[in-house]
Amino acid sequence: MSAPSFAPRVLGVAVPTPLRRLFDYRPCPSGPSGGWRPGLRVRVPLGRREVIGIIVECRDTSDFEFSALKPVSACLDSDPLPADWLWLCHFTARYYQHPLGDTLHQALPVLLRQGRPLEARTRERWRVTAAGRDAETSRLGRARRQAELLELLRQHPRGVIGSVISAQGFGRAQLKGLADKGLAECREEPLTASAAPSGGGLLAEPALVLNREQAGALAALHQELDRFHACLLQGVTGSGKTEVYLQLIEAVIARGRQALVLVPEIGLTPQTLARFRRRFRVPVVALHSGLTEAERLDAWEAARAGRAPIVIGTRSAVFTPLARPGVIVVDEEHDNSFKQQDGLRYHARDLAIVRAQRDDIPVVLGSATPSLESLVQARSGHYRHLFLTRRASHHAPARLELVDLRGRPTQGGLIPPCIEAIGNTLDAGSQVLVFINRRGFAPTLACHACGWLAECRHCDARMTLHRQPPRLICHHCERQSRLPEACPDCASADLRPLGTGTERSEEALSALFPKVPVHRIDRDSTRRKDALEQMFAEVHRGEPCLLIGTQMLAKGHHLPHVTLVVVVNADAGLYASDFRALEHSAQLLTQVAGRAGRAERPGRVMVQTLHPDDPHLRLLAESGYDALAEMLLEERRLAALPPYRRMALIRFESPQEAEATALAGSAATALRAWLGQRSLDVNCLGPAPAPMERRQNRYHVQLMLSAARRSSLHEASAFLADWLERSREARRVRWSIDIDPQTL
Ligand code: ADP
Ligand code: ZN
Ligand code: ZN
Repeated sequence: MSAPSFAPRVLGVAVPTPLRRLFDYRPCPSGPSGGWRPGLRVRVPLGRREVIGIIVECRDTSDFEFSALKPVSACLDSDPLPADWLWLCHFTARYYQHPLGDTLHQALPVLLRQGRPLEARTRERWRVTAAGRDAETSRLGRARRQAELLELLRQHPRGVIGSVISAQGFGRAQLKGLADKGLAECREEPLTASAAPSGGGLLAEPALVLNREQAGALAALHQELDRFHACLLQGVTGSGKTEVYLQLIEAVIARGRQALVLVPEIGLTPQTLARFRRRFRVPVVALHSGLTEAERLDAWEAARAGRAPIVIGTRSAVFTPLARPGVIVVDEEHDNSFKQQDGLRYHARDLAIVRAQRDDIPVVLGSATPSLESLVQARSGHYRHLFLTRRASHHAPARLELVDLRGRPTQGGLIPPCIEAIGNTLDAGSQVLVFINRRGFAPTLACHACGWLAECRHCDARMTLHRQPPRLICHHCERQSRLPEACPDCASADLRPLGTGTERSEEALSALFPKVPVHRIDRDSTRRKDALEQMFAEVHRGEPCLLIGTQMLAKGHHLPHVTLVVVVNADAGLYASDFRALEHSAQLLTQVAGRAGRAERPGRVMVQTLHPDDPHLRLLAESGYDALAEMLLEERRLAALPPYRRMALIRFESPQEAEATALAGSAATALRAWLGQRSLDVNCLGPAPAPMERRQNRYHVQLMLSAARRSSLHEASAFLADWLERSREARRVRWSIDIDPQTL
């Protein structure tokens, strides 16, 4: 960014296009009152359109003929967008090799992208004046409604907001009448209330008394609130990490600073929010998908202006500007939803760390099952490693019991010993959770005469069988078709579901246990907005019941009455092609297991598997996540994979397989030639078909780059981005760069 210049001849503007460069414009005659500066939004002509861009450079020269530059049409701001936000966007664009214009655009609330002024929306607050307080109502004579309004205002000495007044049926005429007589007055105030609690301290409820481990962790964090340090808070599920965050945030707010809390997509539940809101008397601003664009802008503005002491949100909340940053918390830091999988492919946890570093504040990463990336940082001493090993409920998290599935008959995917255990648990008055990571009735439909499987015509994938309503659905492209009456290959009518999904388990378990309610929780059963909350309300009453669900159910929810967890099949991650599959699968299994026995009664976790002797699974079952993580790290080190090497994935997709492969091939050749002239230790693998090559009738091909040093990888991907942008072939093939990819 260039230094402020009040009368530059050229403005370098970032506009929302896929091009990785700035566009030069001349200033327009009616400039902003504070002079031209980076960070101001401008309306500019681009081709035949007008778009909103952001000034990035103010300078006196251009690579173009000065007379060829068009003037900007208008400047939209008098003050630049927040400096911390601009800095983070610049960093993100550079690190993830994404066009700056699009990065700025993505990171801005929609209404600001559309040119809405950046100022706090305000509301009116009406109060009685001293004269109004003492006035005889008779003074108002026949103005009966004015007298009633005056009475309302007198009852609320701190004032009444405009919308409440109109909701009571009063209008402008009465307000103006009182104001003209000097009996009432109006003040504008920002829509989001002020940060300062009006006397009586920060807390609305007392904090819990911490146990020894929690107190130790909090003390360690307290010691250094005024400088950057990253801390990995590794605590088993239910060990009270959230309580530690709450007390840390309390200290931060008490110092007049703000806290930013990032949670996984599935974690921003009304339960979580309620917990924060119950604790603090200051506003807790939540950035969730239910907000209107106007509310989102208000939240952004309140954070930017420092009126929002606590901001809590999912991935994109990492781009919320803060006037007085004090701490960033990333809860469940290993969760995959922190990585955006398309467009601007950033990782919110990693950006949180960079941001904390720049703001010189602490960042806390919390998890029961930390990512291997964070574990390596903690072990090498870059992060402080704090542990919570005990649950607040005193029951140690249950061990995983591996149950051999081989050659056993199943009902709804469950073998007899598991069904028996479910029955016993329900009889004892407890709740049971059955975990299946497959929604639908069955993973696919098969012909028992010839072996035909229902495959998607547009993807390299099977169609999932659904019963409610009956149809085949491809979970990759959402294509749906009716159930065939006979096999399309051999015309046999012997078509049978293959495998078990949540619907099938629900059907079988409802038949086996007709007396208890069976709740299915997956994306299909919770499409209605409040369905999930209703179900949890019922489950929290504590009556015996069966919960069947996907990871939606496994993560985050506190289910105090569940004492038995059954995992229908633990094998999905064991032999997957993606090198992170085992790590993710171990995290998920540990999370699921953590749902058992969180309250008074101890828990039991039964894990069905076709591979009871698999060394990874056994290690996880016998020694826990830490031991497995250790083993995985060693494997990654030997295989030269992340976190020991940096990785980037260049993806190519086209309806023509040959075109995608050809472009990937040319790009690889160009890169190898370029690498040949330098001594960069970058490895380029490919072109190779992506794990699911055909999706929605588009072919996916990829190059995989890896390097020991971040900077080498960075240079190589920057070279490729530049090469691809210039390449003629690349115009017909969609390509993207994914730095630190989470899935292959
Ligand atoms: P985590 O975030 O590690 O899963 P939570 O903070 O949600 O754990 O705590 C789990 C449960 O234990 C919650 O019901 C919480 O209220 C309770 N809890 C946490 N810390 C304490 C404490 N120091 N004393 C008593 N109860 C606690
Ligand atoms: Zn057949
Ligand atoms: Zn499909």
